Amino acid sequence: MFEELLKNCTLCPRNCKVNRLEGRQGYCGMDSTIRAARAALHMWEEPCISGEKGSGAVFFSGCGLRCSFCQNRDIAIGDSGKEITVERLAEIFLELQGKGAANLNLVTGAHYVPQIICALELARGKGLGLPVVYNSSGYENVKTIRMLEGYVDVYLPDLKYMEPELAAAFSHAEDYPRAAQAAIAEMIRQTGPCQFGEDGYIRRGTIVRHLILPGHTKNSIAVLKYLHQTYGEDIFISVMNQFTPVWKNEKYPELNRKVTWREYEKVLNAAVEFGIGNGYFQEGETAKESFIPAFDYEGV
Ligand code: SF4
Repeated sequence: MFEELLKNCTLCPRNCKVNRLEGRQGYCGMDSTIRAARAALHMWEEPCISGEKGSGAVFFSGCGLRCSFCQNRDIAIGDSGKEITVERLAEIFLELQGKGAANLNLVTGAHYVPQIICALELARGKGLGLPVVYNSSGYENVKTIRMLEGYVDVYLPDLKYMEPELAAAFSHAEDYPRAAQAAIAEMIRQTGPCQFGEDGYIRRGTIVRHLILPGHTKNSIAVLKYLHQTYGEDIFISVMNQFTPVWKNEKYPELNRKVTWREYEKVLNAAVEFGIGNGYFQEGETAKESFIPAFDYEGV
């Protein structure tokens, strides 16, 4: 069935309508061949996702958003990543389960959703029982998220921007706020409020992440306000201060530095003022390149 979806691709809000089966690439830079750059136990997600065991993260190559400050640029842009089949992807899922992963964590897979669904079906038939986490930029089409109903237990989307101007400037996606808000609403419709096991791991629910951008605390505060006013304690909000200037940005010089403690504090104070109870906040020095995993094809 997935062939039809790739013939005239509208999987994400770029709606490129290219025929990826014929080798054409859309904005995401990927044709129909699955490419992945790493499949390994990942310890740096939120505690309820990584915990002590680690999250079985599969990092897919390509991205339909491609932010100018991308923290995973090596795999988001260009031809990086190893080519794999749907069958191999299913095997990788089972291998991660065999390594003791707490869950399966699909990182930036929007442009491969049809193939991911096929791989999950195959792996389930062979004993995959892990909760499935869908880790996303938030720039998603609602109809694609609907396809994932019954396959995904935990959604982990970003909400990067409330300001369309900022989304246009940094991600060439003026429609990001509208698209991400609609996608997140669909995710929460599917999962309902967050549920946790006795071991502390999340079993079902939606955790929305927000990465503070240097010089843009107003946007961050607007994101937190929107999420809390709309969803209250049904979701968890994860506020991240780990922004790392990966390369020099000529056009937007504010992106050439880390977030200051003063900025981080301002956003956290707003979170307290709004009464956000279900939140994750980073402590200590986090803006290190070591938080960016090595995309060395491990486990692929
Ligand atoms: S998944 Fe890729 S080809 Fe398809 S609409 Fe999005 S950017 Fe375009």
